[in-house]
Amino acid sequence: MTRVALVGCGGLGVPAAWTLALGGHRQFRLIDADVVEESNLHRQVLYTTPDLGRPKAERLAEILRDRFGADVQIAPARLDETNAAALLDGCDAVLEGSDDALAKFAVNDWSVAQPRNRTAVIAAAIGRRGQWFTVTPTSSCYRCLFEAPPPPESLATCAIAGVLGPVTGQVGGYAGRSLLQALAGRPDAAIGALMRFSPRGLLRTVVAPAHDCRCRN
Ligand SMILES: [Zn+2]
Repeated sequence: MTRVALVGCGGLGVPAAWTLALGGHRQFRLIDADVVEESNLHRQVLYTTPDLGRPKAERLAEILRDRFGADVQIAPARLDETNAAALLDGCDAVLEGSDDALAKFAVNDWSVAQPRNRTAVIAAAIGRRGQWFTVTPTSSCYRCLFEAPPPPESLATCAIAGVLGPVTGQVGGYAGRSLLQALAGRPDAAIGALMRFSPRGLLRTVVAPAHDCRCRN
């Protein structure tokens, strides 16, 4: 059975995990170093007041085990390019939903380096908008779209810019569904395409493989 790594157990990771579990998925590795804070509760809706101060990965693992009988591993760490290989070792697919742009590129690069199991969904949300992108063995990758991470000083985070709670619920759920589709080998609109969610609806931009991208080698 496929083990899915969830990078980030917050606003996107919680609804993504719930969607994956409802879709029948049972093997997870939860990668997150944060604890539950009061400001999280409006959008990370599986956590409640008694969970404040508890590690998110630990609490989400309990919920997935209790509710679904899931097999859940925990990695209390913040993923980056230096530890991605170790943290993702033994996983077959990744859903990246942290608030760290560099982690998204690290997950993409780990994924495209896998000879057979190249399956990742990379999601983000801020303000009233969100997006997700699915990488498969035959699709373009995140670097075909964004060659390199933006400079750190240009990055906004949810902690600074805020995010509308229901947006993370929608985008995380969509991202989880896209991963289920990819794992099942079914067609999905997000494979090799940037899906953007905003108050005006969904917008899909197909990303052609860049001929000089590392995913073509
Ligand atoms: Zn690429």
